[in-house]
Amino acid sequence: MSPLSPAGHCPVDILVIVENGKDAAVETVDLRKVHGEGSTAVRALDGVSLSFPAGEFAAIMGQSGSGKSTLLHILGALDQPSSGKVSVGGTELSGLSDKKLTLLRREKMGFVFQFFNLIPTLSAEENVLLPALISGEKVGKHAERLAEILDLVGLSERRTHRPDELSGGEQQRVAIARALIRNPDIVLADEPTGNLDSKTGAGVLELLRESAARYGQTIIMVTHDPRAAATADRVIFLADGRVVDETHAPEHDEILERIKTLESTG
Ligand code: ADP
Ligand code: MG
Repeated sequence: MSPLSPAGHCPVDILVIVENGKDAAVETVDLRKVHGEGSTAVRALDGVSLSFPAGEFAAIMGQSGSGKSTLLHILGALDQPSSGKVSVGGTELSGLSDKKLTLLRREKMGFVFQFFNLIPTLSAEENVLLPALISGEKVGKHAERLAEILDLVGLSERRTHRPDELSGGEQQRVAIARALIRNPDIVLADEPTGNLDSKTGAGVLELLRESAARYGQTIIMVTHDPRAAATADRVIFLADGRVVDETHAPEHDEILERIKTLESTG
């Protein structure tokens, strides 16, 4: 691409880049969200503008109630903002029909939640294949990818086990494999280590990182754990629905410092 040209000279391609958010996997502009109405209305997001470059592993931190989950749900087209814009891969979500949003979620996104959300009656392997089954695809089409992904998450030996026959860490690894099976561009994770001991949690984070590096995925992870956040390329801090701070490639200690500062000023 050409560098910035002098004013008045061929700014068009530059404008296109900005509008498409070419290198941004996910972008928000002045995002606002009010939950509920009238006297019970809660302002969960209050003007959030963020850009997540493709391939970034970003962590979002903030106290309980600061708007982290609301933001993640809106980024994943699971919820709609009250105002503001969200673009995913250069496509603005507000212009899309419900059907297109569903397709976008299926084609481009993988979700990992705190409570692993596995189907108890299905085996590990069947849980991993669920997104493909829901999309009406033949399971056979995914045989190779399934083997690869089960290997990546270290569950090849346990693929026929049901969730209640697996440990918490193994269940979360099944959930991650499920999120990754269709090679999403974007992985959205809400407290993925929230129910895991620190060692198991570290394994899950490493897995997310490895997958992101291998497949060029963008990961946006909500966490309240500074150790988890310290594995990210960037940490974004929310307070009362606003971005109040951010830091690149932070150390664990630095994150703790920033949290302390935020708590004493907020
Ligand atoms: P976090 O994930 O950081 O704990 P949330 O995004 O879940 O924060 O919530 C932000 C604020 O919005 C909180 O005050 C919460 O109580 C409120 N909230 C979240 N979801 C809803 C909802 N569906 N209806 C009403 N209020 C909500
Ligand atoms: Mg939350």
